[in-house]
Amino acid sequence: MTKNKLEKQPTDLPSALENFQKITARFGSEDTLLFLDFDGTLAPIVEHHDDAAISEEMRGLVQELSKRFPLAVVSGRGLADVRKRVNLPDLFYAGSHGFEISGPNGFAKDHEEAVKVIPVFDEIEPLLKRKLKEIAGTDFERKKFTMAIHYRQVKQEEQEKVHNIVSAVLNDYSEVTKADGKKVIEIRPAIDWHKGRAVEFLKTVLSKKENQLSVYVGDDVTDEDAFEYVKNGIGILVGEHGRQTYADYRVEDLKEVKLFFQKLLQYKS
Ligand SMILES: [Mg+2]
Repeated sequence: MTKNKLEKQPTDLPSALENFQKITARFGSEDTLLFLDFDGTLAPIVEHHDDAAISEEMRGLVQELSKRFPLAVVSGRGLADVRKRVNLPDLFYAGSHGFEISGPNGFAKDHEEAVKVIPVFDEIEPLLKRKLKEIAGTDFERKKFTMAIHYRQVKQEEQEKVHNIVSAVLNDYSEVTKADGKKVIEIRPAIDWHKGRAVEFLKTVLSKKENQLSVYVGDDVTDEDAFEYVKNGIGILVGEHGRQTYADYRVEDLKEVKLFFQKLLQYKS
């Protein structure tokens, strides 16, 4: 992984709204590509991950943006799940952190190595469910290529135990690895593939030009892979995630995400 960027405190990042002209000054004559995370960026974070929903207003903004910019939604959710929630059939989507990608006109690409890891998930899912049974409030989300264990509902003092149990089980399975998000443990194939690599791949699909400028908007630790890894990219962090960040700018919250989108639409009108 390239380490050409410096990590900063989210609160030290300049505002994407206040520096909008600085951002668009980098846009060339070719279309800038837009990559948008879903949870915490387009839809508010909710107590139960299954309740997450995008507002009509936000959906309308994304739709308008997609008419003016090549655009993809990049999510940790399963592909079918995020597509259904955004409900704009003509967009490109990268689900399961990019292990499964779809687009208009039947475009579809599954990560070939990840396909081979599916049987491992079939094996560890019942195992983890049994071991985590004693802890109230864990919530499994099985996707095609990854599995999420949400623990937002687990008592604070038992949350570390969830991590310990998952780590102990995964010790026996080198084919998978785990990553932490906001009150969620994501188990995924131990393949060097993440939102950043998915974006690099999508850039080749969305643009004829090599290494076209892209803007990535995301809120969580997994979006850091895109902030750090994507070349010629502008990273915009929504809020903060408790760690340092490779993003270049920040917006406070979803309200500011909308304002940023409105500015982009004005810029391109
Ligand atoms: Mg997110």
